[in-house]
Amino acid sequence: MNSLELLPVGFIASYVFILGLCVGSFLNVVILRGLSGEEFIFSRSRCPKCLNQLKWYMNIPLISYIFLKGKCAFCKTKISIQYPIVELICGISFLIIYLTFGLTLKTLFLWVIFFLFIAMSATDIKEMVIIDTHAYILCAVGILYSYLNLGDVDIIHSLIGALVGFISMEILANFGKLFCAQRMFGEGDSLIALGLGAIFGYKTFFIVLALSMLIQSLCALPMLSYKACTEYKKNLSYAYLSAFAFIIILFLIDYFKPIENQFMYICSLLVISSILISNLITILEEIKRKKEEIKVVEEEKFNLLPFGPAMIIASVACIFYLPQIKSYILSHFS
Ligand SMILES: [Zn+2]
Repeated sequence: MNSLELLPVGFIASYVFILGLCVGSFLNVVILRGLSGEEFIFSRSRCPKCLNQLKWYMNIPLISYIFLKGKCAFCKTKISIQYPIVELICGISFLIIYLTFGLTLKTLFLWVIFFLFIAMSATDIKEMVIIDTHAYILCAVGILYSYLNLGDVDIIHSLIGALVGFISMEILANFGKLFCAQRMFGEGDSLIALGLGAIFGYKTFFIVLALSMLIQSLCALPMLSYKACTEYKKNLSYAYLSAFAFIIILFLIDYFKPIENQFMYICSLLVISSILISNLITILEEIKRKKEEIKVVEEEKFNLLPFGPAMIIASVACIFYLPQIKSYILSHFS
C-alpha cells in the first residue's frame, strides 16, 4: 500500500478537480494559439482587446471569471464563455477518470487523451478545423497506450486500427462526392480517426464510427429542420423532423413491443414507414437540387455541423461503457 492510498478519496478528488481546472486553463491557451498559429510557451496572458497583462489573481481558473463577471478588469470587454466552459469540462473529466480508474498509469494516459479530445472538439466547433499536431499526438499517445497494455488492444491491433481508421474515413469522405459533389467529411476527421483507431483498435473503431453517425444525425436533423423552416421550406423541415422522430422510435421500439394490441403496433409501424418513404423522396430531391447548386458555387459547405465532436463524444462513451455498448449491439442486431 503506498502512502497516497491512505488519504481519503474525497481529499485526492478535490485536488484532481483543481488540477483539471488548471490544465483546462492551459488548454484554453493551446486552443486559441493553435488557431492563431502563435507561439505560446513563456508569454504571459494578456487581454486580447486592451493588451494589458493580467495579474495572477485575474488568471485563476473559473473563479476569476465568476468574480470579474465575465469581463476584462481593465477595459470591461466581455471574456469569451469558452474559457470557463473548457476549464469546467476539463476539471470534471479529470475527476470522473480518477474516480473510475483510480490513481493509475491508465488515468494519467486518459487525462492526456481527454486533453486532446477537448482541444480538437473546441477548434472544430469554433472554426471547423482540426490542428494536425493535436491529431498526430493523439495517434502517438494511442499507440503508446496500447503498447503499455493500458487499453483493450495490443500494439499490433493499435497500429492496424490507426491505418484502418484513417483509410475507412477517407473512403467514406470520398463516397460523399457521389451524392453531393464534395467530401462528406473534412480531412481533419480522418486525422481524428487515425488517433481513435490507435486507441481502440479497428473493431471498436467501427463501433465508435457507427455511434458517432447516430449522434451526428440526432444533432444535425433538428438543426437542418430549423434551417429549412427559416428558409420557408416547410416540406423539407417536416421531412428532417420526422426522420429525427424515426431514429428515436427505432430505439424505443423495444418498449412498444410488449403492448398487447398487436394491431395498433402494426398500424403505427405502417404510418411511420409511409412517412419515412415520402420524406426520403423530399430529401433526395433537395440533395439533387443542392448538387446542382454546389456545381455553381464551388466553395459552399454542404455539411452544417462538424463531425469531429460527434466522434469524440462516441469515443468517450466507449472508454467508459464499451462492455455495455457491445452487449446492447449483440442483443439487438444478431
Ligand atoms: Zn481588456
